[in-house]
Amino acid sequence: MSNPPNSFTFFFTLTLLLIANRAHPPEQPEPDTPVTRFQNYLRISTAHPSPDYYAAVSYLKAQAESIGLHSRTLHFAPDKPLLLLTWPGSDPTLPSLLLNSHLDSVPAEPSKWAHPPFSAHRTPEGHIFARGAQDDKCIAIQYLEAIRNLKAAGFNPIRTVHVSFVPEEEIGGLDGAAKFAVSDEFKDLKVGFVLDEGQANPGDEIRVFYADRTPWNLIVKAKGMPGHGSRMFDNSAMENLMKSVELMARFREAQFDEVKAGNAANSEVISVNPVYFKSGIVSGDGYAMNMQPSEAEAGFDIRIPPTVDPELVRKRIAEEWAPEARNLTYKLIEKGPTRDYTGRPLMTQTDDSNPWWSIFKQAVAAAGGKLAKPEILASTTDARFMRQQGIPTLGFSPMTNTPILLHDHNEFLKDTIFLKGIKVYESIISALSSFEGGSR
Ligand SMILES: [Zn+2]
Repeated sequence: MSNPPNSFTFFFTLTLLLIANRAHPPEQPEPDTPVTRFQNYLRISTAHPSPDYYAAVSYLKAQAESIGLHSRTLHFAPDKPLLLLTWPGSDPTLPSLLLNSHLDSVPAEPSKWAHPPFSAHRTPEGHIFARGAQDDKCIAIQYLEAIRNLKAAGFNPIRTVHVSFVPEEEIGGLDGAAKFAVSDEFKDLKVGFVLDEGQANPGDEIRVFYADRTPWNLIVKAKGMPGHGSRMFDNSAMENLMKSVELMARFREAQFDEVKAGNAANSEVISVNPVYFKSGIVSGDGYAMNMQPSEAEAGFDIRIPPTVDPELVRKRIAEEWAPEARNLTYKLIEKGPTRDYTGRPLMTQTDDSNPWWSIFKQAVAAAGGKLAKPEILASTTDARFMRQQGIPTLGFSPMTNTPILLHDHNEFLKDTIFLKGIKVYESIISALSSFEGGSR
């Protein structure tokens, strides 16, 4: 049996408790706001090579439930879920609107970041640092928040609105949007118009993309007579390959001159960039310097804008850059389509011949946004798979006054820019879902 505490022990204990309490004030529950919901999504690492797709999907599903949206999880490859949300319109016979974003992100090197890349740390100025802040988790949450607000305001769409969250975009989209776009599930959605990701702009206009360039990988292999390093003779593997490299370098220069002269944007020309050269007879730590090898190889990253006839480039590769006559063979890997199913270039009209464009443009302006001149994206997104189905698709991420940091260290988005984007989408979604034209 213990003695009852005397008054000294009592006050001593009370003082200790008070001190302890001051050091650890009771935890404030985190407020549940559009910005914290964005931060919480950013904290789920969906970076390659091991994206946690299921954590992201279950988070987004919970968000959808809280908004009252119907959700479905589809699989076009094992362990690569695709989340599809639907807000039914009052006239389901009208083509629907699809808002797309990808779940995955590129990796991040934490040691190169000012704040851990999956902390979604928000600075006093409102900068939210995270991998995926710009590319493209911002639009995923903006779509949801815009729909949340429209629903709360009592808005009812006429046409159906779908929101898709797809896996694998950052590694080519083959097990994600590529399979989704040709699936029966996709056909059933009767999509008439798609909004997909765009890019930030340091200026105050919102960029919009009506096409992507198509990436091609070209591997040129040369064979030739081997020989002593001292001999001059025709038809060595190196000589044959070097001729190709010279021709391609000249072509590259001519294209780049157009950009330098201001006649074309970077994304409007064919880019040809050498990415590796491989040859030589390995000897010890280096190469035998007195031997001319019998084989040589080079790899090129080529990007084709939709304004170019891809057949002409294929012909140039076969006849000029890698002709059999110079003992060359080549492998061309075309990573994605250059034409839609009817044979038309993968470009979305950005004029009044496209009724979706006119409504979209007006809706951005109505929200106080200023659209930049429509551009071709220099790289590639999932939009190409939708365009291939003949569906008008725009790349659009409303990030103004924001440095372009996708795939870079210290990727961030400012909270006020994020919140402004929600307003822009409210305007776009309500306008596009309530006009009655726009059949494909
Ligand atoms: Zn992206």
